[in-house]
Amino acid sequence: MSLPADYHMHTPLCRHAVGEPVDYARRAVELGFSEIGFSDHSPMRRDDFDNWRMRNDQLDEYVAKVQLAQKEFPQLTIRLALEVDYLPGHETWIRELTARHLWDYLIGSVHYVSESWDIDNPAKLSEWKKRDAFEVWQIYFDRLTLAAESKLFEIIGHADLPKKFGIRPPQDCTPLYEKFLNAAAKTGVAIELNTAGLRKDCQEIYPSRDLLQLAFQKNVPITFGSDAHAPGEVGLNFADAIALARSVGYTQQCRFKNRQREFVTL
Ligand SMILES: [Zn+2]
Ligand SMILES: [Zn+2]
Repeated sequence: MSLPADYHMHTPLCRHAVGEPVDYARRAVELGFSEIGFSDHSPMRRDDFDNWRMRNDQLDEYVAKVQLAQKEFPQLTIRLALEVDYLPGHETWIRELTARHLWDYLIGSVHYVSESWDIDNPAKLSEWKKRDAFEVWQIYFDRLTLAAESKLFEIIGHADLPKKFGIRPPQDCTPLYEKFLNAAAKTGVAIELNTAGLRKDCQEIYPSRDLLQLAFQKNVPITFGSDAHAPGEVGLNFADAIALARSVGYTQQCRFKNRQREFVTL
C-alpha cells in the first residue's frame, strides 16, 4: 500500500507557516510519500483583507518555490495548488485569480462566515461567545454548499471546520451535512480528510465520522491532507485518516493533475 497524497500543505508566504516547500518535500520523501501537493492560502482581492495569506504580488514567487521543490525532488510528484477562500460574491475574483496560473487542483475552503469573521482564527475566539453556535454552523454550511455548487474547486477543505475550538451546537447538524453533500455529489467535488483537527481543541479529523459516512453513501470522493504549516507536520496522522476512510467504506481516493481527477485504490 502506498500512502495517499498529502494535498494540503502551506508555505511561509502565508505568514503563519514555517519551512520552504523543499523542506516539506524532503520530509515527504523521508516518510515514503510518492505524491504531495502545495495548497497555500491564496491572495484575496485586497491584500489588506487579513494578515494570514500571500499577497497578490507573491503568487509568482509561490509558484517558483513549488517549482524549485519539484526540481530538487524529481522522485516525488509535487502538485501545484491553492487553498482558496470561498466567500459568496467573490466568484468572479476567484476565477480571475485562478486563471493567473495552471493549477493541478484548487481547494475551496470556508473560513469566513461574514466579510470580517474567520471562525477558525484564535484571535477572534471571543466572537463565538457572542453568537449562537448552531446559527454559525448554519451560515458556515450554507456557504460550504455554495462553494460545492460553484464548480470553482476540485476539493472542499476541512468540511466541518466550525468544530475547531470544540464548540458544538446541541442541535442535530445532519440536515446541514446533507445539503452540502448533495451539492458535492451533484458537482463531483471531493472532500478532504484533514488531520489538522487532531491537533486542535476538537481533537478529531475534519470531517467527523458522521459526515464522512454520509459522504460515502452519496459517493462523494475523498482526498487526504495534513494541513501542514511546518515540515514536521507532513503526513501527520495519515494512518488514522486512512483507517477512518476505510471504516466508513471508502476503497478509493482521488488524485489531480491539471485539474483532472483520477481514482486510485486506497
Ligand atoms: Zn493556515
Ligand atoms: Zn483552511
